[in-house]
Amino acid sequence: LYILVTGATGFIGAHVVDELLRRGHRVRAATRSLPKGELMKISRPQYAAQLDIVQVPDFATLASFTDAVQGVDGIIHVASPFTYATTDNEKELVKPAIAGVRAVLEAAAQEKTIKRVVITSSFAAVLDVGRRPPPRFTYTAEDWNPLTYEEAVAKETSAVVAYRGSKKFAELAAWEFVRERKPGFDVVTLCPPMTFGPIAHPVERLADLNESNAMLWAVASGREMPVARVPFWVDVRDLAVAHVEALCRLEAGEKRFVVASGEKFSYGLVKTVVEEEFEWGRGRVAKGEQEVDDSYDLDGETAGRVLRVRYRRFRDTVRDFVEQAVKMEERE
Ligand code: NDP
Repeated sequence: LYILVTGATGFIGAHVVDELLRRGHRVRAATRSLPKGELMKISRPQYAAQLDIVQVPDFATLASFTDAVQGVDGIIHVASPFTYATTDNEKELVKPAIAGVRAVLEAAAQEKTIKRVVITSSFAAVLDVGRRPPPRFTYTAEDWNPLTYEEAVAKETSAVVAYRGSKKFAELAAWEFVRERKPGFDVVTLCPPMTFGPIAHPVERLADLNESNAMLWAVASGREMPVARVPFWVDVRDLAVAHVEALCRLEAGEKRFVVASGEKFSYGLVKTVVEEEFEWGRGRVAKGEQEVDDSYDLDGETAGRVLRVRYRRFRDTVRDFVEQAVKMEERE
């Protein structure tokens, strides 16, 4: 197959690209930055013939993806702003997230060869922060974050909350598009919680790490013990498998999946893993403790079964990432 991946030079996007390439598919990797795209291509010489880069500088206009979709069989739309360093949440998070989904689907509807579009949503679009145990409960792909648009973009809203709104309203825009336009493709959405693991995209400095891995590094390097807003996580490599399976499996069509390990995490657990796995660990990790919040659950098993994902262990994910991060630090 020939697949367009957006956000290909980001943390999750690069792993999705690699999973497709490994399985022999052709990939058109969309990025805002051509130099980053070229770096990705140069670091994968064995796939030179299977991988091409396309620059989509801005997805604010509906025509952004018109060229990028030419001739592809499917799309995996990963790109969406994920940062908490914002000054205008609506402009930087919410509007571009929605505009990206609309632009991708609009372009896809013009291209008859496209059969499926997989969209990276988030557990942020599922989470209801007002829902607390007891009684104990399990989040599933049926659940939706109850935020209103007005709440998501209000001046006093934090970037964390606005980001949750951006993912909810972007995903809703996708389901609405399919319902109203009845295009020649179907849509699958994936809702991963915190996503961790080794990086495969071009990152020059540890200071430029993606938002979720930056939390692991904050613990390992002794900077701080971040707040774990949810105890759920998934390994980026498992999530990449889920994306590709969601694209190829007929029975996944029109479904929404929560992709998450059954194991729970806390940043305290990250600390323990780093202390046990690395000689330097004890002397360096962040101070403080943090318990795993085991008072509610998330159903990642359905996705595991339908999309044939065997979730990795948290220990392996943390070790693989930290090992890589320390090497990057030595080079800096
Ligand atoms: P990154 O920041 O590494 O990747 C974000 C990607 O989106 C980048 O490739 C970036 O493009 C692109 N992007 C961001 N803003 C824009 C914009 N305004 N216009 C066009 N492209 C944009 O983060 P992740 O890989 O972690 O995130 C990828 C997706 O996964 C997002 O949709 C995010 O919401 C979702 N997600 C992430 C989780 C996590 O814990 N990491 C958990 C759940 C969902 P470029 O490379 O060109 O800069």
